[in-house]
Amino acid sequence: MTTSPPSIDPTLEYRKLPAVDALLHLPQIEDLAATHGGDALIDAVREAVDRARQQIRVGKPAPQLADWLGRVAQILAEREQPTLRLLINATGVIIHTNLGRAPLSLAARRAVEGLTAGYNNLEYDLAAGGRGSRYDHTRALLCELTGAEDALIVNNNASAVYLVLAALCAGRDVIISRGELVEIGGGFRIPDVLRQSGARLVEVGTTNRTHPADFEDAIGSTTAALMRVHASNFRQIGFVTMPSLAQLVEIARRAAEIPNIHPLVIDDLGSGTLLDTTPFGLAAEPTVQQSVAAGADLITFSGDKLLGGPQAGLIVGTRGSVAILRRHPMARALRVDKMTLAALDATLRSYARGRAVEEIPVWRMIAATAERLQARAEHWRQRIAASIPATVIPGESTVGGGSLPGETLPTFLLALDLPRPDLIAAQLRQAEIPVICRIWQDRVVLDPRTVASEEEDHLVNALQKLAAEQ
Ligand SMILES: *Cc1c(COP(=O)(O)O)cnc(C)c1O
Repeated sequence: MTTSPPSIDPTLEYRKLPAVDALLHLPQIEDLAATHGGDALIDAVREAVDRARQQIRVGKPAPQLADWLGRVAQILAEREQPTLRLLINATGVIIHTNLGRAPLSLAARRAVEGLTAGYNNLEYDLAAGGRGSRYDHTRALLCELTGAEDALIVNNNASAVYLVLAALCAGRDVIISRGELVEIGGGFRIPDVLRQSGARLVEVGTTNRTHPADFEDAIGSTTAALMRVHASNFRQIGFVTMPSLAQLVEIARRAAEIPNIHPLVIDDLGSGTLLDTTPFGLAAEPTVQQSVAAGADLITFSGDKLLGGPQAGLIVGTRGSVAILRRHPMARALRVDKMTLAALDATLRSYARGRAVEEIPVWRMIAATAERLQARAEHWRQRIAASIPATVIPGESTVGGGSLPGETLPTFLLALDLPRPDLIAAQLRQAEIPVICRIWQDRVVLDPRTVASEEEDHLVNALQKLAAEQ
């Protein structure tokens, strides 16, 4: 698709390239030093010349003298971009771990902005006029939503699991099924976390089958807890059985009739949804309310997976157990920031109002119908039709983020009918607001499910720019 006329002689073009010094002394380029600094300007001019050389190498002409200012300014602007940036996720993976997991709701974003504009009562009791606790702000709401007696928020779910084990199980045994000694990703392995916490791992059962009796037989005077870990990112099928949480609670209760034995039941839910996933055509992800009702002493889950809020580790459980966690020195090291608490509180309030599906992006994406997504993909196709050949095709989105493995949601994709999808994908990543896409069956495909309607104009612009560069 390159349209460069064959008449360009690279040798001549190379000769047209100005010297770095000459460019630096062009009036408007010289002026850029005032706002960007002299060293940054020299670097940018060198880079501009390098890029022009590379373009000549692939058969393009040398830039006109008038173009250099724009090119240098562009490079300076690129360099001043923060490395952590907003982007458009067109992959159709809703909770994308590499792309910052859950996008925040409007209410959560506003809450962060509103609270951080000045001081706040993070640790100040307004009624008493004295010291308060940062943990009181979300505690009541979380208890109300889950049915738990008490709650504590820490930095993420990995730290929640660690704190629970360190504060309540160090030096004693934690019994886990061999089928649940999982690696979550990013090096988070349950056996390693257990070891770090100072607790002793007692493995029972086999990879595919563990029975209630396996737990019962392992309980002794050194038992601190029975632990269940949700198999977030894989699924076992076939000859498989694991005791239910209710069965573990029953085993722990019976064991507690023996003097000096009081095993806790710990449930690491991972995603920990507050909403039932089945009305959306998905398998049943265990809810936090179910774990509370089943009688687990401590339940841990993430703030930025299916909850759809900021990164946080949410711990709910019995008053006595949570009180021990709150007093543990590690709670201070793992504590959350005011921005997290503001965003979390606003997210939880959407659930309390019964408006989670409408207000929380993760749930809005899960709830989007294939019909609606087809209409959106078709609309995109029409908007770019004049410049890029594309087709709307049926496909699948996934929930991702270590939840609902193997589960898909039917969607419609905009497939670009252009060669070299790898190059197209790379160009889309370079857009002003980068667009991350998928390559499927040798084509770039874009899934409207994970693209907010406010992002649509940017996406279409990026596609149109792509056509201009072809
Ligand atoms: C995701 C997950 C974790 C880790 O949670 P983060 O919030 O990412 O720290 C721990 N346990 C399970 C079962 C998980 O799915």
